[in-house]
Amino acid sequence: MELSGLQIFKYLPGAKKAEHSNCKECGCPTCMAFAIKLAKHQIDISSCPYISEELRNLYDISSKQPQKTVEINGLKIGGENVLYRHEKTFINKTAIAVIVKSKEEFKRAKEFEITRVNEHMKIDLVILKCEIEKELIGDTNTIRYEEFEKLPLLKIEKNTFSETAQELIKIRERAIKEKDEKYSSPIYIQFSAEKDLKVVCAEASFYICKYANMLVFEKFDEALISTLMTLRQNIYTDPQKPLQVESKIYEFNNPDENSLIFMTTNFALTFFAVANELESLPVPSYLIVTPADGMSVLTAWSAEKFTAKMVAKTLKKWDFASKVKNRKIIIPGLLAHMKKELEDEIKDFEIVVGTVDAYAIADFVKNYTK
Ligand code: SF4
Repeated sequence: MELSGLQIFKYLPGAKKAEHSNCKECGCPTCMAFAIKLAKHQIDISSCPYISEELRNLYDISSKQPQKTVEINGLKIGGENVLYRHEKTFINKTAIAVIVKSKEEFKRAKEFEITRVNEHMKIDLVILKCEIEKELIGDTNTIRYEEFEKLPLLKIEKNTFSETAQELIKIRERAIKEKDEKYSSPIYIQFSAEKDLKVVCAEASFYICKYANMLVFEKFDEALISTLMTLRQNIYTDPQKPLQVESKIYEFNNPDENSLIFMTTNFALTFFAVANELESLPVPSYLIVTPADGMSVLTAWSAEKFTAKMVAKTLKKWDFASKVKNRKIIIPGLLAHMKKELEDEIKDFEIVVGTVDAYAIADFVKNYTK
């Protein structure tokens, strides 16, 4: 495991109130500042002349890369250095590869694409067990099967799901906790074409969470891959960087000055859930997306990122009141308690409490516009 700033500090003169404590020779104002920088690899350990042998050894071990990275035409596999996503973030998402044995299969794999939360996802790697013309390959990431087998990846082949899962966990733990070189190769699991699709889906879902670096499918199935990519996207987003969309006023179905006005925060999942519903409404609408550091409505409210003052500021910034005649803004049902506060602050608009869930918007609008 990587050493934290606090763990490093314990070994420095500053923590022991020893000679040279906070002497600044390293260029940092205090030993604690040095420790924090060292933990982030922003300073060389030798900048402090008073490092103990014990700390140097510990730091050397902790700085070793626990898992190697293997690159296939720009696709990075492995390179992970934490066990749990909340510790830092996972680095390279579990790659999804398919083995193709015919031109038809190749075409299906090449054309496959899904878009979710603004991310376009395609098959990461197509492993060729047949000849495909260069022109047809285009920019698809491919590798010959014989070449793929020579890569420094570790294939896990156990008889049961339970054995495979235990092996994956064991290997990741040894790589991360003990930095054991024997376990530093990125891992992949190969699914046979004969295996039941539901079982493949369940097992592959587990392996994406713990801890396959790559999944290889001998049979290409669009529904299976869509499901796995959706799961993978959720696991591999950086928890420190919430998915967010641009904060602005979005328009659906050519709204005019009398169209419905909805409001939400810039958390991407909320935005796309609401946007999908507004797109399919039989009436046009606006969606005001307020800046909230990518937090969902209730989280933003509790973190004071969605306040009446901020909403008023946002509307003023876009001069929205002068653009529309409609004087009613529909807010998410979860923020019903803010109705009065918002109305006190936003003099130009009346606040209408909308639905808690996005899927209920269509019914809400049906009754609202009766
Ligand atoms: Fe502390 Fe070493 Fe920096 Fe001096 S040189 S402040 S002892 S970390």
